[in-house]
Amino acid sequence: MQTSRTGLAKTLIYARIALHVVWKYRRHISPKFLYRAARLLLAFYDNKIIVRNHTYKLHLYLPAYPTPAFFKAVEGKLLAKPPKPISMVWGITKACSYKCPHCYQRLDKGIDLSAEKLKETARAVCRAGVSFLNIEGGDVFLTFENLCAVLDELGPDCEVWLNTTGAHVTREKLAVLKEKNVYGFMVSLHSADEKTHDEFVGIPGAFRQAQETLALCSEMGFGTAINTVLQYKDIQHQTLEKIMDIAHQLNCGFVQLIHPKRAGKWLSNTKLYAQDKELISHVKRAYYRYNKTPQLPALPAQAEEEDKKRFGCTAGGVDRFYIGAGGEVQPCEFLNVSFGNVQAEPFDVIFKRMRAAFPTPFVAWACEKRAQEIFTLMQEKGLTQTPVPYEYTRELVARWTDGTPTPIYKDIGIYEQN
Ligand code: SF4
Repeated sequence: MQTSRTGLAKTLIYARIALHVVWKYRRHISPKFLYRAARLLLAFYDNKIIVRNHTYKLHLYLPAYPTPAFFKAVEGKLLAKPPKPISMVWGITKACSYKCPHCYQRLDKGIDLSAEKLKETARAVCRAGVSFLNIEGGDVFLTFENLCAVLDELGPDCEVWLNTTGAHVTREKLAVLKEKNVYGFMVSLHSADEKTHDEFVGIPGAFRQAQETLALCSEMGFGTAINTVLQYKDIQHQTLEKIMDIAHQLNCGFVQLIHPKRAGKWLSNTKLYAQDKELISHVKRAYYRYNKTPQLPALPAQAEEEDKKRFGCTAGGVDRFYIGAGGEVQPCEFLNVSFGNVQAEPFDVIFKRMRAAFPTPFVAWACEKRAQEIFTLMQEKGLTQTPVPYEYTRELVARWTDGTPTPIYKDIGIYEQN
């Protein structure tokens, strides 16, 4: 059962977390530590808290308090020098029967990593500081043994959520995943209308399947979230309002809003951002409205969280990064450039290289700002698959030197070049 906390109940949980952090890290206490901790903690305060199994999710991508993963994230940001990332999205397979037009890895090629390489990479990303792992495909349920191999490498200091379309999920597989400490599931639902969703993903019955999977995951005690790519036309159809109702009926903890990005199949879509301003305003209003409403799920929305008054763009391993099924390490799943492949080089070497190219979080969204450059480069070099290999990425990012650092990080000064 997932329940939400708003108002005074939420404030009391924040007070408890603050006291716990101060007590746990009392040996490190200084005015600077307290200021940094308070600024970062309060940056989450506008979100609704979702409670599950005596753990508290301040945000979907922050591990739940008071788990070991939560404290790993705290230490990675406040005590480690340089600070460590929190979350990673990992596509462990390209296998998928769905045909979603917005798929950011649809143009990726190459063979999936072997089970051995997956295990080695899982250990390496945990060492790098990752405390929240969002594993996806393709369809991770089509390569279930490899998924289990990855999960076996992870300890309690890494919270795991799995992305799924809802297909190929069985009660038996979920029971196995429960044993392996998976925290929750994000299930894609891109419309509140059955026919529209099924046509969008190209699979009849997908809408019903997604909801059945959400209901089953909730019944078995997992955290649940609906992932929605909200488009401009959805505003007039009140799609978000209807999806929130569906999520409420299915006892979902979260509805995550992702606004369309020029990546993968949509990289060539030069008109994608034309109506972005209105869509983003709509999403931001929804963020504040729903996160104050007690009964409904929490509404994390990238458009708000990546706003300049919050965290900005934290791609490149600042807070987040991505590894594709073929082993390419990218700054973000929505930025189709690679800094190297774990099949050819150790992850640590690639990660260090990527961090050097993204030394600090920036106000501008790299996915939006750089999409055209990436697309143009691919055309110039005759590249038909993503991500752009490192030999070209290197040339590209050498020009990405401008930008305004995100105020919160500049203020707390945890990144050297701020
Ligand atoms: S590139 Fe930056 S702004 Fe865009 S989705 Fe990734 S982290 Fe967010």
